[in-house]
Amino acid sequence: MSGSGPDHVLVTGGAGYIGSHACKALKAAGFVPVTFDNLVTGWQEAVKFGPFVQGDLLDRAAVDAAFAAWKPVAVMHFAALSQVGESMSQPGKYWRNNVLGSLNLIEAACAAGCLDFVFSSTCATYGDQDNVVLDEGTAQHPINAYGASKRAIEDVLRDFGVSHGLRSVIFRYFNVAGGDPDAEVGEFHRPETHLIPLMLDAIDGRRGALTIFGTDYPTPDGTCIRDYVHVCDLVDAHVLGLRWLQANKGSRVFNLGTGTGFSVREVVAASRSVTNRDVPMVEGPRRAGDCTKLVSGSTRAAAELGWTPHRSDMATMIADAWRWHQSGHYSR
Ligand code: UDP
Repeated sequence: MSGSGPDHVLVTGGAGYIGSHACKALKAAGFVPVTFDNLVTGWQEAVKFGPFVQGDLLDRAAVDAAFAAWKPVAVMHFAALSQVGESMSQPGKYWRNNVLGSLNLIEAACAAGCLDFVFSSTCATYGDQDNVVLDEGTAQHPINAYGASKRAIEDVLRDFGVSHGLRSVIFRYFNVAGGDPDAEVGEFHRPETHLIPLMLDAIDGRRGALTIFGTDYPTPDGTCIRDYVHVCDLVDAHVLGLRWLQANKGSRVFNLGTGTGFSVREVVAASRSVTNRDVPMVEGPRRAGDCTKLVSGSTRAAAELGWTPHRSDMATMIADAWRWHQSGHYSR
């Protein structure tokens, strides 16, 4: 506790998909989430659970001012560009925004003495490793600029741990899906690039047929396999990670996935049965930068944080996403 009131947590990207769900979870856990977001990909309407600071991580003075104004006890750093395909065509955008922005944030946090840091990393840092169990000790060989930018930030965090005593919990997300069951916040990107929201758009005619990116992968049905985790379960892990930092004063890396893989065709089939609607789709070529299979092979988050996913079965994730899709969205 800092001062007399509840602890503040600086949440970068709090106006985005995962960040907004994290703010809801933080508030429920008794923290005050202070959103810091440039609204490039986020939505002001998604900031519902605490104060909002509009600012850009590339603006160091704005970041310093946020630490001075709110005196957060910890940082949760979600703000990032996160599209694999775009990272392959515009790598400079990813290195500048993700890496330089994070460096500013990390330096500012250290300068402010705010040394508990929760970071959103990704399974894309592992790259395409056939027949390798992906646990936290697996060597990281990203094959796209998005994954490479996230791995670089992991390195920065480790270096600042040594030099400044920064303590970090690094979460390597697998594929995040679903939405708040109350539909107060949800997944809404413009443009949308992620499989499940695109599929729901195709189902209700908001866009044309879904294109399956590649049907010649060395998987049982030829499409890529991913490990999908519900956004509410994912942000619960962040609250546990924050408490772990406060209790342990160390640093740790955790995969966040369920350990179960679904092919693109399997996700399509599940959506068909949850929505009871046809999924218009066409088969297309592979998307540059896509790994064949990304499935977590670790139970560390369960063992060490006590993390138990409750909503990460595919039908629940799609049902929650579908409810949000039909009821809510943001606008500028
Ligand atoms: N995908 C697809 N069609 C789309 C969007 C995605 O077939 O329009 C596939 C993509 O190739 C990957 C999986 O769905 O195998 C999940 O992609 P998404 O962009 O949702 O997440 P990523 O795995 O890139 O983080």
